[in-house]
Amino acid sequence: MPSKKSLEFIPGKVVQCTEHLRRVLAPNPSMMTGPGTNTYLIGNGDIAILDPGPKNKEHLKALLKATEGETVRWIFCTHTHNDHSPGTVPLVEALQNERDPQIPIEIIGLPAALHNGSPLSSHDRSFEPTHPANHGDIFDLNGLTIEAVCTPGHASNHVCFYLHEEKILLTGDHIMDGSTVVIAPPDGDMKAYIESLELLNTYDIKHLAPAHGNLIDTPKEIVAATIAHRLKREDKVIVAVKTLPDSTIKELVTTVYDDTPTFLHPVAEFSLLAHILKLKAEGKAGETNERWRWL
Ligand SMILES: [Zn+2]
Repeated sequence: MPSKKSLEFIPGKVVQCTEHLRRVLAPNPSMMTGPGTNTYLIGNGDIAILDPGPKNKEHLKALLKATEGETVRWIFCTHTHNDHSPGTVPLVEALQNERDPQIPIEIIGLPAALHNGSPLSSHDRSFEPTHPANHGDIFDLNGLTIEAVCTPGHASNHVCFYLHEEKILLTGDHIMDGSTVVIAPPDGDMKAYIESLELLNTYDIKHLAPAHGNLIDTPKEIVAATIAHRLKREDKVIVAVKTLPDSTIKELVTTVYDDTPTFLHPVAEFSLLAHILKLKAEGKAGETNERWRWL
């Protein structure tokens, strides 16, 4: 008999999270995505879909089945990483082919991020919002209210969405359940990430609904712990840069992440670079030929 928890992580199965929130797991588990990407269905009857997930036929089929008899009027995307938004275009096509093509679907989020004007391979360029999300934008979902909360950091175009009636923040990858969010420069930005975490303290939040993992019922504690975890790591970065001057990221990672299995160090290098770039932006660290020192 499978446990309750494992049942909840069955791809394609609809899980009722709260009165107005359901989720359908995409079949894309991995080291980076945990059990896979959660696609959320918001409302009943006239509904919104948040983060259609990767481009995947099975998941598309599951979403169509889960929303049978309902009208999808809105699609929200928290950001354009490849496990979140590429399912949008096929979903819109399928809904318009198989249901009423006259019903317009509003697509809300921010387009793929660029770096120095060039596309980033980690971002999905097929995602084209009909309504680019601005911080504080309010969307009326026939009685439910969704507010855009811009949270750059994990990705520069990351937006969380706050469901007022249930005080739920749909966090995308800003906060995950049980795993550390990767902040990978140049698009990821540690300073912006920590500021975007602090921003959450200004909202009255009862639950966090992450894109990976389960609903979190202790939002304040998790936000505080996540900030503390990052600042503790930053302290280790400061000590390492001070004691090992003129070291590269590769040389620093073994010291800064001595508590992390070495097979994860290549991923940790991204976060380490993000920490050092934060210190650089604050005028505390500098580099010559990618060798870092304390200023
Ligand atoms: Zn992401």
